[in-house]
Amino acid sequence: MTKRVDVVIAGSGAAGMLAAIRTAESGLSCVLLEKGRSIASSNAARCGGPALAQTRLQEREGETVTAERLFSHMYGFSRGTVNAGLLRAAIDKGREAEAIFVKNGLRMTLLEDSYGVGFRARHFFLDPPVKRWTPLADAFRAAGGELLFEREAFRVLLSGGKAAGLLARNLRTGEEERYEADAVIVATGGFLGSDELLRAHFGDIFVNPLGSRLSDGAGLRMLTEAGGMEERAFGICANEFGGSNHLLGSRGRRSSPHLRYAVYGGLLLNRQGRRFVNEQLLSDHALSAGGEAALREGVFYALLDGETYARLQTEPPYRVYGEPEEWHVGKRCLNTPPDAADSEGELRKDIEEGWAFRAESLSALAAQTGLTALPETVAAYNAACRAGHDGRFGKAPYLLREIGAGPYTLFQYEPSAWCTFGGVRTDAFCRVLTRAQEPIPGLYAAGVDAGSCYTVPYYDNEGAAVGLAFGLGLVAADDAVRYCREAASRGKTGETA
Ligand SMILES: Cc1cc2nc3c(=O)[nH]c(=O)nc-3n(C[C@H](O)[C@H](O)[C@H](O)COP(=O)(O)OP(=O)(O)OC[C@H]3O[C@@H](n4cnc5c(N)ncnc54)[C@H](O)[C@@H]3O)c2cc1C
Repeated sequence: MTKRVDVVIAGSGAAGMLAAIRTAESGLSCVLLEKGRSIASSNAARCGGPALAQTRLQEREGETVTAERLFSHMYGFSRGTVNAGLLRAAIDKGREAEAIFVKNGLRMTLLEDSYGVGFRARHFFLDPPVKRWTPLADAFRAAGGELLFEREAFRVLLSGGKAAGLLARNLRTGEEERYEADAVIVATGGFLGSDELLRAHFGDIFVNPLGSRLSDGAGLRMLTEAGGMEERAFGICANEFGGSNHLLGSRGRRSSPHLRYAVYGGLLLNRQGRRFVNEQLLSDHALSAGGEAALREGVFYALLDGETYARLQTEPPYRVYGEPEEWHVGKRCLNTPPDAADSEGELRKDIEEGWAFRAESLSALAAQTGLTALPETVAAYNAACRAGHDGRFGKAPYLLREIGAGPYTLFQYEPSAWCTFGGVRTDAFCRVLTRAQEPIPGLYAAGVDAGSCYTVPYYDNEGAAVGLAFGLGLVAADDAVRYCREAASRGKTGETA
């Protein structure tokens, strides 16, 4: 089967869907290929919500975050590791993205500044996945677009050095389909579904997937095969709510109340039983620098003494630390008591599953787990707590709580990710660049496949991942529309590009 359109897009998530709507509403013919079976396949359909600038919602609440402010925060965070023009262009599209949501009946609220970045850019979708994404698909179809499910794009077609379409596999029939187009936008959502790519970039560790495994690096592979250059930054959008462990669930559970000690600010240890980080990075910047630290270790542990464990079963971490006024994240995010569950029963299951350990003494715990340096680490940590000064990693004094008497409980965690970052290098218009920094005419990367817009570690302002993905979809589509129009007018006048 061969089909001819102006623009073909792979991936109906944040970037792909907005790119598709923009392209179709500009009057161009467009096919949107989605590997998943349903409208709710993408991470975007299930995500919390985007960081956006200059929205009407912010205006109404007197909380406008200008594009300049958001850019200066994010570009400052990046320390020059992203394409400034691309980042600015994506941020500049925030209001247009919001307009598309409003026009199609998607509801959002504006969240508080959970992580103390100093502004309220994070919006939160109120509609569940199908209800959220269906109106967008309807808008695309109403503008003449065609959305096809169970189509796995696997190769970019090139002709004379320019993009000429996509090859896709019809996952229902197994047949290969050919979509010829002047412009191709690839937005397949990263590589959380590829154990091979996760290992290649992060080592032989396990990254628990919290997002779709349909995104298996196809975009990165197709675009590099087509001549695009891989960007340098590869990382994850880490879980800010707690740790993970692949062993959890072997007894039919989906969660445990004890996952949250990965991010509550208490003592964390590596496989040898040594501290590896200022633990406040995980409590205060779990999405960002804390997630990066956990990713570097691959496996890490939280140690709790008897009293702290007991108190955390009924009290919020913020109270256990004495409610320090200056601990913004503690007050905002770690200030609710746990659900009144049978925590001892849950702990027994954690231990049976093999990721939690309990012992009366630190030496017994060290012998049981192989974390041989644990007793000496605790002795040094306790000395720092008594002195009120963490001379090793600089943790704030208000989080320095001595490890007291047993029984001691130790939880083993692995990193977990909502999605990955890392894609191809692009210019400020999402055009895929070759190693010679030349754009490949007609070829675009958007969303997290556009490597030049995302940092490692991930930005510290929540909502950045999907906020930028929406913006990048619009940036790519606008340039693709311009490119197709120019190609059409060249065609009419018989010029060659
Ligand atoms: C539960 C959850 C909550 C999240 N919450 C937030 C949040 O609050 N804020 C935030 O910033 N980020 C959040 N994220 C991350 C955010 O959803 C992603 O960063 C964002 O969706 C990336 O957009 P994208 O367009 O690049 O990819 P996606 O939205 O994931 O879309 C990619 C699409 O491509 C499809 N696809 C994959 N391979 C192919 C192929 N070969 N051919 C055709 N189609 C293909 C996929 O099925 C998918 O539909 C969350 C993620 C999850 C899972």
